[in-house]
Amino acid sequence: MVAARTRTDSAETVHTHGNFINGEWRPAGSGSTFENRSPANDDDLVGHFAASNLEDVNAAVTAAAEAADGWRRTSAVARAAILHKAANLLETRANEIGRELTREEGKTLKEGIGETTRAVQILRYFAGEAQQPSGEHYPSANPLTLLYTARDPLGVVAIITPWNFPIAIPAWKIAPALAFGNTVVFKPASYTPVCGVRLVEILTEAGLPPGVLNLVSGGASDVGDPLVRDERVVAISFTGSNQTGAELRKIAAERGAKLQLEMGGKNPAIVLADADLEQALGQVVNGAMMSTGQKCTATSRAIVDRSLADQFTTKLAERIAALNVGDPLEDGVQMGPLINEQAAERVVGEVTAAKDAGSDLLVGGGRLTDNGRGNGAFVAPTLFAGVDPSSRFGQEELFGPVLGVIPVDGLDEAVAVANQVRFGLSASIFTRDLGKALRFVQEIQAGIVHVNSETAGAEPHVPFGGMKGSSSYSREQGKSAREFFTQVKTVYVDPPPA
Ligand code: NAP
Repeated sequence: MVAARTRTDSAETVHTHGNFINGEWRPAGSGSTFENRSPANDDDLVGHFAASNLEDVNAAVTAAAEAADGWRRTSAVARAAILHKAANLLETRANEIGRELTREEGKTLKEGIGETTRAVQILRYFAGEAQQPSGEHYPSANPLTLLYTARDPLGVVAIITPWNFPIAIPAWKIAPALAFGNTVVFKPASYTPVCGVRLVEILTEAGLPPGVLNLVSGGASDVGDPLVRDERVVAISFTGSNQTGAELRKIAAERGAKLQLEMGGKNPAIVLADADLEQALGQVVNGAMMSTGQKCTATSRAIVDRSLADQFTTKLAERIAALNVGDPLEDGVQMGPLINEQAAERVVGEVTAAKDAGSDLLVGGGRLTDNGRGNGAFVAPTLFAGVDPSSRFGQEELFGPVLGVIPVDGLDEAVAVANQVRFGLSASIFTRDLGKALRFVQEIQAGIVHVNSETAGAEPHVPFGGMKGSSSYSREQGKSAREFFTQVKTVYVDPPPA
């Protein structure tokens, strides 16, 4: 445990942000607010946010329901123009918002600005996608019948997002929801509400009519739960933990809501004997440690051919021990804190349990409190060797900067170990052997598969999502987004009698 701290709030101007309902910013009905503090420095108060409840959720869903007809009838070209303008506006503010992202989430400034820039690309992509062909034309048994499918919007959708990508994930759900004619009630994660507020500000400035996009901030039970239970919400797009996903699955099934879940991962990087070691080392360290290991696609298992396991592990240890961990706003820092104190303590607890269970701790494993890090949720980047793939550490998502090396004999065992978890989000292999790479691609149970690159890479214009326990068999982004945010209407048009 780290010692209790006394707060001396920083001198930055602190704003109070309301909910955005029916085109206006307003406080929570109860007047309550909650604080958002930087995980890197508890004295850095990022803002106060509306601590909402059922009354606010009701008002937001009512606004979205009332706006639904008008937005559905707005042409896709007009919707696209708004998303396009929003992309341009966000681009001009990418540095400023990227910095706020870093303050509230803790990833490095480079990553914060990078994520904001990715949100720009996502808005731009869906501005284009809104105008792509939608539906199909079929031949009919009657040669005079015009037979085609159209895609209708769903109606009011709930968007519920996690804290680890506080602007990219809201963008990749909200942009397609709006592009395809739905209205939205958005609940951002409570640890990272600033980015949600900024995205809504920008889309509003770009011309969204009142009620089309509504934001309600506040806790999971006060806001998230009533939102997903509201009968007027016809679809729920959720990214977050498996535990929450399981709860939403029951609620959505009971009331027949359309549901999209993107959840956790325990992502493997396989390193075969013929791999380019320099390439594999760099990619595995990045995959495991960037964003402090708090990516759903982060590498948490390095499954390494036994013939090079010792050499590879020694080099991994050198690189991981040399990472510069500190204030994510500072130049040269490679890794920031975890999202909060509880997460830091949880990860250290899991590391201790893994060590006690027999894994060989080589680097890190504890809190970092020196060099100005005593006021933040810092954990040392951590490496284990000799991990038992069936142990808790080998099976469960830690969501922190912790990598375990599992030695194996050859490709078949590597793939068997890689697949031996309940998750199936992303996976990578390092090899020069094309045949082995293709066999891996065929056998691996993962929704995102990389050959000679890290597990965490994902481009914004292609489908994204996991297999097995990582997802609900749906996909986000790219052309797949239309599948979730629309429904098919089959149309038969026959000529009247001549
Ligand atoms: P979380 O605790 O499940 O929270 C995610 C969101 O759901 C938050 O907005 C949270 O609100 C809300 N929520 C929690 N319980 C709810 C309930 N009963 N009803 C309605 N809403 C509820 O997950 P997290 O800790 O933020 O995110 C980390 C997890 O997300 C990791 O497992 C990671 O792998 C996964 N993730 C997956 C992907 C992917 O695409 N597969 C991407 C990123 C992250 P509060 O914030 O107010 O608690």
